Amino acid sequence: MSDIREALGSLAAARAALDAGSLSAADLVEAALTRAQDHAALQAVVGVRPRHARDEARASDERRAKGERRSLVDGIPMLLKDNMVVAGEATTCGSRILEGFVSPYSAGVVERLQSAGAIVLGRTNMDEFAMGSSTESSCFGAARNPWDPSRTCGGSSGGSAAAVAAGIVPAALGSDTGGSIRQPAGFCGVTGFKPTYGRVSRWGLVAYASSLDQIGPFTRSAADAAALLSVIAGHDPRDSTSLPVPVPDYAAALTGDVSGLTIGMPRECFVEEGVEPGVLESVREGVRELEAAGAKVVEVSLPHSRYAIATYYLIATAEASSNLARFDGVRYGHRAEGATDIDDLYRRSRSEGFGAEVKRRILLGTYVLSAGYYDAYYKRAQQARTLLRRDFDEAFAKCDVLVTPTSPELAFPLGEKNDDPVRMYLSDIYTVTANLVGVPGLSVPCSPAAGMPVGLQLLGRSLEESTLLRVADAFQRRTDHHEKRPPEPV
Ligand code: GLN
Repeated sequence: MSDIREALGSLAAARAALDAGSLSAADLVEAALTRAQDHAALQAVVGVRPRHARDEARASDERRAKGERRSLVDGIPMLLKDNMVVAGEATTCGSRILEGFVSPYSAGVVERLQSAGAIVLGRTNMDEFAMGSSTESSCFGAARNPWDPSRTCGGSSGGSAAAVAAGIVPAALGSDTGGSIRQPAGFCGVTGFKPTYGRVSRWGLVAYASSLDQIGPFTRSAADAAALLSVIAGHDPRDSTSLPVPVPDYAAALTGDVSGLTIGMPRECFVEEGVEPGVLESVREGVRELEAAGAKVVEVSLPHSRYAIATYYLIATAEASSNLARFDGVRYGHRAEGATDIDDLYRRSRSEGFGAEVKRRILLGTYVLSAGYYDAYYKRAQQARTLLRRDFDEAFAKCDVLVTPTSPELAFPLGEKNDDPVRMYLSDIYTVTANLVGVPGLSVPCSPAAGMPVGLQLLGRSLEESTLLRVADAFQRRTDHHEKRPPEPV
């Protein structure tokens, strides 16, 4: 593997090359831009900002020449999911309705990345407004899985997962409302981390379902995730749900030692029915590895998990129907031509601007919030959410970390579930609960099945990101699944 390819493969490798002086930030940016082009067929990257990225790289190189380094990610190029705004740049959320929109300000995470010296290279492909599990509902067309371009890279942050898997950049950010970081990370063989709700500022993240949304990193390893999370985590008064608690030293948590930790296997998540062959076996093998590393493994129960998908798709769509009301053809992006009055303008702009899945969800969400149905659907979903929370409290009284598959299947062929929304929704069966409950969740690659990556999901108590990172890192010290790279394009 060439030095530059290696350096773009992980934050640790990029940092080592910069520290050794064998590569500059400018080299990394040029190489990342070239790789983005070489991998254009993946449709992972939907926009780059070469001029700004080059300027930022030069500034980082000048700092370094003076012996200054702002953080562990100074000078390293990264990509952001196309739902986090950057001042002066387009943000589309994979939707036609945001065509022409340019943000007047930067998201909290963008400010943090930039003040740490990281270089925002551009934007990654996503399902429209983060609604989906395959990145197929994007107005840019589907992103593809670098392991097998005839298959999905997962979603909705599929472009970020594919870009890190393909080594276009060493790290990317995504957002996770019901699994959109963890599921594509699992499908693409990278590490994906959804922190605790409120751990990372959502200021400047275009809202999908505000009580569930959270930003997090895609990286090669848990150690890289720890480095990036320390940069983006922390209180932001502009996001009222951001938690005013200090950020621990995540890197210090990576001791390699899991003895004394108890890992719970929820019985309901290891039932063969509905799970593709090979998935549970890989995850069980991963659990044995953690046991060999000194962790204690116990069986636990999450009795209400069978309600998770229904609960999630009621709450998420309800919140989405309200959040997406702001896209009215007046304030942002696309405005229909030839409208006769204001209602007609709203109707036409929204009809033209939104894709089918987004419309389906706005309709469903509006329905469940409507006067006659609110109690039957929305209220009951909130009650089920409370039951799920209690399940987790009880489980976490018996163990420190829960382990499940990230998804019930391997990356599926493009087009396979497009006409069957319910089958698509079932893809999220193991991931949505963490968002409903608010706890952190992380996906690491375990042993592949049928030549495709498999994700092992770890869930932790609220704000115990350090424990998850420690377990994931201990796993990666004993295995090399996360080091595997997909074939290069010919
Ligand atoms: N697939 C889920 C959905 O479509 C999760 C999406 C997400 O986490 N943004 O809502």
